[in-house]
Amino acid sequence: MLDRPFSLAQLRIVLVGTSHPGNIGGVARAMKNMGLADLALVAPRCEVRTSEAISRASGADALVAAAPIHASLDDAVADATLVVGASARSRTLPWPMFTPRQLSDALADELTSREARVALVFGREDSGLTNDELQRCHRHVCIPANPDFSSLNLAAAVQVLAYECRQAWLQDSPPGVNKNPRIDKEPATFGLEWDSPLASHDDLERFFTHLERALIAVEFHDPAKPRQLMARLRRLYLRARPDQMEISILRGILTAMEKKAKNAR
Ligand code: SAH
Repeated sequence: MLDRPFSLAQLRIVLVGTSHPGNIGGVARAMKNMGLADLALVAPRCEVRTSEAISRASGADALVAAAPIHASLDDAVADATLVVGASARSRTLPWPMFTPRQLSDALADELTSREARVALVFGREDSGLTNDELQRCHRHVCIPANPDFSSLNLAAAVQVLAYECRQAWLQDSPPGVNKNPRIDKEPATFGLEWDSPLASHDDLERFFTHLERALIAVEFHDPAKPRQLMARLRRLYLRARPDQMEISILRGILTAMEKKAKNAR
């Protein structure tokens, strides 16, 4: 058996606010064709396990039946170490972008540890992902389609990205290649050689909540006039991909700030 660079079970497809059961079935089929099985639904706006979903899944309906339904995006990606939002258009605040190929190229490094999880997040058929949802993602991925007609059907978008991920998985990984990311790659790889596991989405969201509270306490941030402060800080920290040790240092700094602010009052 070939030594695969990672397991496809480490990839999760997350559908937010889907409104057509047929699309959920179509996504399940696209996933199963590419060997993916981890499907999660966030607040679907339709009944999920309908005859239309089952018929469009044509044999992949077990994925629909097994898909957990979450109330929020945060719940669906809590354990993910890389969250990537799929979006056809760029939004008010530019965000670090992947092409589908760059995403698949990154997977082998991202998923060297078996605990690592990548979540690919897809939006609503009519309105995509909200800014708030996109600002919870480390990276965005855009399929470079016809600029005059760039929005793909949901299941088609999942198909394209799942295919790219499968191609990365199919790459043979001869022994020794990329086993030492410090030598072979730029430093921003988080393989076996990194000294602390990456922070999960859950760790990061708790950090952002703490950061906002501390910035209010020191009167740097006025929630009545938020401007884009928190969005810009999110982008900064998500771009840096903090590990668990770094997040705990940052939270220690925030706690010290809060204590000083409290004593000063
Ligand atoms: N009308 C919506 C697009 C909805 S398509 C909008 O303007 O945002 C449903 C979902 O499929 C999108 O939220 C996105 O996750 C995915 N998708 C569609 N086309 C895409 C593209 N070209 N690149 C990346 N994702 C795409």
